[in-house]
Amino acid sequence: MTTPSLLILPGDGIGPEVMAQVRRIIDWYGDKRGLKFDVSEDLVGGCAYDKHGTPLHDDTMAKAQEVDAVLLGAVGGPKYDNLDFSVKPERGLLRLRKEMDLFSNLRPAQCFDALADFSSLKKDVVAGLDIMIIRELTSGVYFGEPRGIFNEGNERVGINTQRYTESEIARVARSAFELARKRNNKVCSMEKANVMESGILWRDVVTEVHQAEYADVELSHMYADAGAMQLTRWPKQFDVIVTDNLFGDLLSDLAAMLTGSLGMLPSASLGAPMANGRPKALYEPVHGSAPDIAGTGKANPIACILSFAMALRYSFDQGAEADRLEAAIETVLANGIRTADLLQAEGVEPASTVEAGDAVLAALDASL
Ligand code: NAD
Repeated sequence: MTTPSLLILPGDGIGPEVMAQVRRIIDWYGDKRGLKFDVSEDLVGGCAYDKHGTPLHDDTMAKAQEVDAVLLGAVGGPKYDNLDFSVKPERGLLRLRKEMDLFSNLRPAQCFDALADFSSLKKDVVAGLDIMIIRELTSGVYFGEPRGIFNEGNERVGINTQRYTESEIARVARSAFELARKRNNKVCSMEKANVMESGILWRDVVTEVHQAEYADVELSHMYADAGAMQLTRWPKQFDVIVTDNLFGDLLSDLAAMLTGSLGMLPSASLGAPMANGRPKALYEPVHGSAPDIAGTGKANPIACILSFAMALRYSFDQGAEADRLEAAIETVLANGIRTADLLQAEGVEPASTVEAGDAVLAALDASL
């Protein structure tokens, strides 16, 4: 079997700081579990602009297309705020998503028991929560034509178009059903079929794909507004939710924040299967480059570490090792080791980024 390949793009701000902790965990898997990765590292975002005059060099793009998975830290920062739009750090990230055709965005909402008090909802509503929102990422109203602001008579009109083809819906539906089979075998599809034709088509196609290929998975449908209510009322009723780009943007933020800090949220964006059967994949924390704390050693590395856990599970078929890493993080939190963003009590000394990494490695050692 060939060694799985991983391209690491730490990026800007706290990106390299949190990624350094992930590198230690990758080394741990090589040393202690015999799980070797062929790791390469490159630039993305502002640091790539500083070196190459572009936020993503063509060679880096080509490498991203070849590897089994890409793991990214974060991009951006005030230094780059006045750059031309075409070379802003974020353009590097958008280019990766677009050229890798990453149409399926996975945003887990997972509540570690030790952090249940952090939620704005009651503890029993969120304790043990583990759901996955899949947002279609490359089509829908953010991309549909016509779009723009036009003059009509003596006033302006703003137009965006919600547009989905059957194949775009079918591929993200398949991604949801496949994922459900690796979890609790339940998918809820959300749209607004009551008021939108694109919603009617969405519901039809999801149902067709289900009947033809995934009848073993439990499927339900919900209007997206009702879905938002149910997510805040009793989120544990869901396993996998699949929805379009716009509703997914809102619902994934809502679900993720049920569980606490930005420093805890991982994500994955998956594309079509490659020749080896693995989907093209980019894993990254949801947070940005946090310029306000960059260089202070305060960043929480857990979102980035959990992004690597997702890579273990979804790109490398190492579900048991992903469970091990998540359990190690649960142990660290339960032991009261918290970075500053997770501290509630006055007078408690926060852990630094490196100390949080040390604690995860110690918990991994203890798991053997
Ligand atoms: P941000 O996510 O960087 O920070 C928001 C707040 O959360 C800050 O107070 C920050 O200190 C805190 N925070 C974020 N991650 C944290 C972590 N791991 N540990 C502890 N605290 C954490 O969002 P922002 O301030 O709006 O944006 C800063 C820069 O990042 C901008 O240039 C923005 O364009 C960029 N950005 C990049 C991405 C990405 O790379 N995917 C995403 C969002 C924003």
